[in-house]
Amino acid sequence: MFSFSTVPRVLSLVIFIAPTLARLQDFGIPPSDATVDVKAFNVANFTLNNLTSVFLNPVLPGREDFTLPLQAFLIEHKPTKKKFMFDLAMRNDPQNLPPAFSSFFSSKAITFDPFKDITELLQDGGVSLDSIEAVFWSHAHFDHIGDMSKFPNSTKIVVGGKTDLSLSPESPNSDLQASDLAGHEVVQLDFANTNLAFAGMKAIDHFGDGSFYLLDTPGHFTGHMSALARVTPSSFIVLGGDTHHHVGQFRPTGAFQDTIPCPGDLLADARSAISTDFFWSTKTTPGAFDIPSRTKPFFALSDVPGSFYEDPVTATLTVDKLAAFDADADFLTIITHDQSIQSILPYFPASLSTWQADGLKAKTAWQFVDPANPAFLFSPVQECEFE
Ligand SMILES: [Zn+2]
Repeated sequence: MFSFSTVPRVLSLVIFIAPTLARLQDFGIPPSDATVDVKAFNVANFTLNNLTSVFLNPVLPGREDFTLPLQAFLIEHKPTKKKFMFDLAMRNDPQNLPPAFSSFFSSKAITFDPFKDITELLQDGGVSLDSIEAVFWSHAHFDHIGDMSKFPNSTKIVVGGKTDLSLSPESPNSDLQASDLAGHEVVQLDFANTNLAFAGMKAIDHFGDGSFYLLDTPGHFTGHMSALARVTPSSFIVLGGDTHHHVGQFRPTGAFQDTIPCPGDLLADARSAISTDFFWSTKTTPGAFDIPSRTKPFFALSDVPGSFYEDPVTATLTVDKLAAFDADADFLTIITHDQSIQSILPYFPASLSTWQADGLKAKTAWQFVDPANPAFLFSPVQECEFE
């Protein structure tokens, strides 16, 4: 029996489903009901003293020290209940890093407060280490690879195919030493032979069911990869790794402004706080920065000698590609060292998988322009603040 009351319901169903499918098809991501669960750990905080310039440009006076959280992510493949890690943050005994890197800490170029190793955090949370099937390293930098000697040999290491696995001390510039690999099977992914690509990034369907993809995201360091985790059939978390280190390096774009406009209270606060001597947009007037008319990211990736981007041109292209996901309401992008969301992100044992229903993207995306946020780097620091 047909009734008028069923018409709006049918129509609303069509309207509700159609845009989501269209977006997935735009990126070329095949539909799937298979998902993973994602939980984040806030492992440690680093401050790199007088080093902001190796991350981003421009560096405003008084903003020379750069503080970064080190995050790690627990992934559970829902169909099989198998657990994985995406990055481990850093081992908590930096004196035992290879000499080229332990010197950062002994010289106080990098300072930090003592912290628990991710293996302790997992076990404190009731996650046994032998339940971790594999650890994905976004790349083989010391602040991502943890201390694999604390994991059982059964835990595999999965890396991007171009990752250099040579060891210190024979390779003195390598972050890796024998204990990082000993006893573990190492799987090197081959992006050269995949037919999948999303937003211009080569992708590997790790479980073969559309729940978890690795993305080829070069530029920061050889072999760098990111992850695309499907947390509901139509919503995703992008674990960017170190594609960039400050969200102002990929926000905003014009498309991002259209999808996730800056909340009014932040607009008002940022208007007078963002320095118009350093940043501009079409509707900005001197001393009054207009966020909605800014259609390119605030910061460029650093390309100075000693830049933390091995290939700044390629890294910038990678960030442009990730920004396409970031401007879509079905994707939450988290870069490993995003300080702007550190006080807001729900951490383990909370799951990030309900981020879309929880409105987490709207709550977090523009926090970096809040003058009270620790990631706010958009005004010179007045010396009198310290007097
Ligand atoms: Zn890093």
